[in-house]
Amino acid sequence: MSQFWNRKVHDLQPYVPGEQPRMATLIKLNTNESPYGPSPRALEAIKASADDRLRLYPDPAALALCTAIAEQEQVPVECIFAGNGSDEVLAHAFQALFRNDAPILFSDVTYGFYPIYCQMFGLEYRTIPLRDDFTIAVEDYEGPAGGIIIANPNANTGIGLPVSAIESLLKRFTTQTVIIDEAYVDFGGKSVVPLTQRYPNLLVTRTFSKSSGLAGLRVGYAIGSPELIEGLIRVKDSFNSYPLSRPAQAGAEASVRDKAWLEQTVGRIIATRDRTVTALRERGLKVLPSVGNFILVHHPDCSSDTLFNALRERAIIVRHQGSSPRISDWLRITIGSDEEMDALLKALDEILSL
Ligand code: PMP
Repeated sequence: MSQFWNRKVHDLQPYVPGEQPRMATLIKLNTNESPYGPSPRALEAIKASADDRLRLYPDPAALALCTAIAEQEQVPVECIFAGNGSDEVLAHAFQALFRNDAPILFSDVTYGFYPIYCQMFGLEYRTIPLRDDFTIAVEDYEGPAGGIIIANPNANTGIGLPVSAIESLLKRFTTQTVIIDEAYVDFGGKSVVPLTQRYPNLLVTRTFSKSSGLAGLRVGYAIGSPELIEGLIRVKDSFNSYPLSRPAQAGAEASVRDKAWLEQTVGRIIATRDRTVTALRERGLKVLPSVGNFILVHHPDCSSDTLFNALRERAIIVRHQGSSPRISDWLRITIGSDEEMDALLKALDEILSL
């Protein structure tokens, strides 16, 4: 607290990011990164971009990258906006596209950044409880709204929503922006990108941090009508510091163009997830049905605190959900490599003395 701070900063409750440990020997299953890293072609492109051209500013519109994304998603390039991670894209979207004449609606269990962006940009919000089975009930989204955001698959539960549910929401909320955060959609979820061509109020956000293995590069993007994209560009251009760096643009573009790598690594992660879910259920843990690269787990007789600490003592870090009351006794575990998941299962056997 300082007398020099703006009042809004006093009241901010900043997002607490997952730990980024410096001990290389830890098994890190806490922030949903890919165990397989980026496409070798992306790495080559990043290295090739490190030359004399670094003295020049990058293309503020990241046109080559946006063109590659547009080709892949089969939408016009005017429908694409790229930013420094989907966190930045989301921040611009909250600021540019959510109105403050009614609360922003999102689920009571979801990505922890949404309430913070509301706070940052002076937006009221109202959380909608998940059903008992932790699914999102779109019928419960009703009443006045300044905008809606849903993560699909939902963050922290991993549960996916069908396209038809999102379309029914779009049919009812036609005058406010609906954002679908598809950070984890590549791991088995259903994308609503095609709907962006029919619903001018739908914005889909995506990231290179998860399935593309490029969390360290900081690239995300949005797909929506040119009207929505124009709003994002206006906000971005009001901050001169925001263009994506040259290496980021080059690496992300090469990554988009290497679809085979994405399919291969995502396929491995899905196979590992599915066998891990079976193995955990055999050990008596509850596991929500995830279509993400993470799972939410609960042990009926062993608290999440005990499990978290016991895993940490064995050099395995997972994500505690303590700040989210509904799932405070659950742990979120990222799907790592097969060896990492075997180490997790072995540690759990020790802890639970099976
Ligand atoms: N949305 C969701 C649901 C997430 O879990 C994350 C990652 N924590 C993000 C967006 C942001 O990802 P990034 O900024 O790395 O693109």
